[in-house]
Amino acid sequence: MIEYENLALSNQIFFDEFSSEFNSILKNSWYILGEKVKNFERLFADYLKVKHCIGVANGLDALILALNNFNFVPGSEVIVPSNTYIATILSIIHNRLKPVLVEPRIDTYNIDYQKIEEAITKRTAAIMVVHLYGKSCEMKPIKNICEKYNLKLIEDCAQSHGALYFSQKTGTFGDAAAFSFYPTKNLGAIGDAGAVVTNDDSIANKILTLRNYGSQKKYYNQLIGYNSRLDEIQAAFLSIKLKKLEIINSHKRELADLYFKHLKTDFQLPHRNENFYDVFHIFNIRHPKRDALKEYLLKNNIKTEIHYPIPPHKQEAISQYFVNQLYPISEEIHNTTLSLPISFFHSKEDIYQVIEIINKF
Ligand SMILES: *Cc1c(COP(=O)(O)O)cnc(C)c1O
Repeated sequence: MIEYENLALSNQIFFDEFSSEFNSILKNSWYILGEKVKNFERLFADYLKVKHCIGVANGLDALILALNNFNFVPGSEVIVPSNTYIATILSIIHNRLKPVLVEPRIDTYNIDYQKIEEAITKRTAAIMVVHLYGKSCEMKPIKNICEKYNLKLIEDCAQSHGALYFSQKTGTFGDAAAFSFYPTKNLGAIGDAGAVVTNDDSIANKILTLRNYGSQKKYYNQLIGYNSRLDEIQAAFLSIKLKKLEIINSHKRELADLYFKHLKTDFQLPHRNENFYDVFHIFNIRHPKRDALKEYLLKNNIKTEIHYPIPPHKQEAISQYFVNQLYPISEEIHNTTLSLPISFFHSKEDIYQVIEIINKF
């Protein structure tokens, strides 16, 4: 059986270092917002080449706090891709803002920047981009649009730790960016964790306040805050894993290369462009008989996933925001996409085995 993911195996090389950090945190008994969090925040900011990193409880909270900090007028519109994980859109709704979906490109699966301008209205406050599957969006034209219309730019980097657009890391283009360190992400904790990054001192200061009950001084509350703090234990684990993030990413890129080289042309492969350094959080292919293909692979002991089976505008929880709106490109992607094994624990031999079987479909 070739599993889709096996976190025990993917994290195995870190076990010794995790254990010694865990024991030291147990003994020094400082569990929340201490030196380990500060250290990780510094390391991750330096890694991205961004001024500030603020650790929070998870990726959704990072998105919610990033938006909340701007104090947009309730009902303001936020432009967001129609094919993303629902978290991106929930963060807008939780802030009492209106998500305005813009279709992706059928080749990159990322927001089609040529369709953004027609979605802008007087109420548009921000653009929230998502670097889906580990590929950066086209940030130069998107930044130009933000400048032209005076819109805030927020990046959802939950799938793009270390991905580059013309040598610049995702997370450093916008006013603020949100990261998730959910265990399966390229940089994953041993539980929930997230971060907001920004180059803006006042945004950083505000997020720092918001994550801890709107308070920076004990029992003095400036803002209507949240409890969204990063644990010392998760921060310590993340600092250990961050040292190997480049190795994790290049391993995934090597496995992706095998798929690119050897998969037959019946499958629609991800778009590649030398100006983009993709980190393949997910390696997806598309095929019109996706469900049959998934079934066939499972019968041949290969597990795959679908990211994602139902597009956000059709989700029961939020479909009322998108009545009578059509997103055919997003639906096409959702109906045909299949995610192949590409984890840190997979060997090249595993991937050759997947290729051999899938090419017989
Ligand atoms: C994982 C993910 C999130 C949410 O992160 P959590 O840590 O699970 O809250 C947000 N956006 C995208 C695109 C994601 O893949």
